[in-house]
Amino acid sequence: MAPWTQGKGLIFTLHNVLPDSEAHKFRPNAHLDVTPEFLDSTITQVKQAGLEFVSLDEAMRRTQDEQCDRRFAVLTFDDGYRNNLVHAYPVLKRHRAPFTIFVATGFVDRTSEIWWVALERILEKADYLDMPLGARMVRLPTRTKAEKCAAYKRAVLWLAHDMSEAAQRLEIRRMARAYGVDMEGLAEELILDWAELSGLAEDPLTEIGAHTHDHLALARLGEDEMRENVQLGLDRLKAELGISPRHFAYPYGYEAAVDRRSAEVIGSFGFDCALTTRPGMMTKGLQKFALPRISLNGHFQSPTVVSQYITGAPFPIYHAWRKAKDHLTFRDDGVASAPREAV
Ligand SMILES: [Zn+2]
Repeated sequence: MAPWTQGKGLIFTLHNVLPDSEAHKFRPNAHLDVTPEFLDSTITQVKQAGLEFVSLDEAMRRTQDEQCDRRFAVLTFDDGYRNNLVHAYPVLKRHRAPFTIFVATGFVDRTSEIWWVALERILEKADYLDMPLGARMVRLPTRTKAEKCAAYKRAVLWLAHDMSEAAQRLEIRRMARAYGVDMEGLAEELILDWAELSGLAEDPLTEIGAHTHDHLALARLGEDEMRENVQLGLDRLKAELGISPRHFAYPYGYEAAVDRRSAEVIGSFGFDCALTTRPGMMTKGLQKFALPRISLNGHFQSPTVVSQYITGAPFPIYHAWRKAKDHLTFRDDGVASAPREAV
C-alpha cells in the first residue's frame, strides 16, 4: 500500500439501502442502491482495516490535527430516503456507527421533484418517449430495455444540461402528467416524512445535514436563487425539527453542479464543512467547502472494491484520467481535484 494515497480517512456517500427487489424492472439509477447486507459487511470490513466510524465533526478534527493518526470513516446518506430508516438504521445501530442524513426538505414536504426516479418510472411503463431534439419533437422508442436505457441517457442530458433547473422541473412535471406518474406520491413513497425524521434525529448517532430545499444543481443557479434555496432548506429544518445543521452536502455534488461561486455562497452560511461527490480521501489542507466523498456504488458491492477504496489508490488514478481529459485542475499531491475555474 502506498501511504501517500490513503489520507487520514474517508467519507462514504450512500443513497438507498434496500434489499434486492424485482419490484421495478427498469432501474438505471441502481448504482445508488446498496443492500443492508453490503452496508453491514462494509462497516465490518472497514473496522477490521483499522478505521474508526466517527461523526463529521470528529472527522474534521482528526483531519486538521497533525498529531492524530487514527484513521476514520464517515457514513453519509443523501436526500432522506425512507429506506435509510427501515433498512440502514438497524445496521448502523447494531454497529453503533454515527451517520449523517443530508435532507432535501422539499422532498420531505412532497413539493420538490425527484426527477431522476420519475423518469425511471415513466420509461418503465412507456412504449415511446416524445422529446424535443433541437427545434423539433422526436419520438424515441422505449419498448425494450436497451431502448429504455438509450432514451433515459438522452433524457437526462436534455433535462440536466440542455435547460435551466426551473425548466427541468416544469418539464418533468409535464412528462409525469402525460405518462401517469404521481410526483407527490413518489416523494411520499420514497422519502421520510417529518415525524420519521424527528424520531430518527432523537438518536445521538444521527446527525441531520443540509441539502437545500429543492435539490437543484447550485452551479446552474444565479447567486440569489442559490442563497434562497439553501436558506429555505435551513428554515424548514429549523421549523420542523428545531435543527440548525452545521454540515452541508451539495445536491448531485459532481463537477457540473458545484463551482467556485456555490462554494463561496455555502461558505457564507457559516457551515463547518460542505461535501461534494468528487472521489478522494480526506487530507489536511483540503478546501473545507468542497470536501471529497466516496460513493458506495450499487454496481460494485464487493469487498475487493471496498479494500481498494480504503487504500485511496483508485482516486489519484481517477483524477489523472480526468486531468488527461482536460476537465480538471489538479493538486500537487494528487489527492484532491477541482474543476478548472471552480472550487
Ligand atoms: Zn442528493
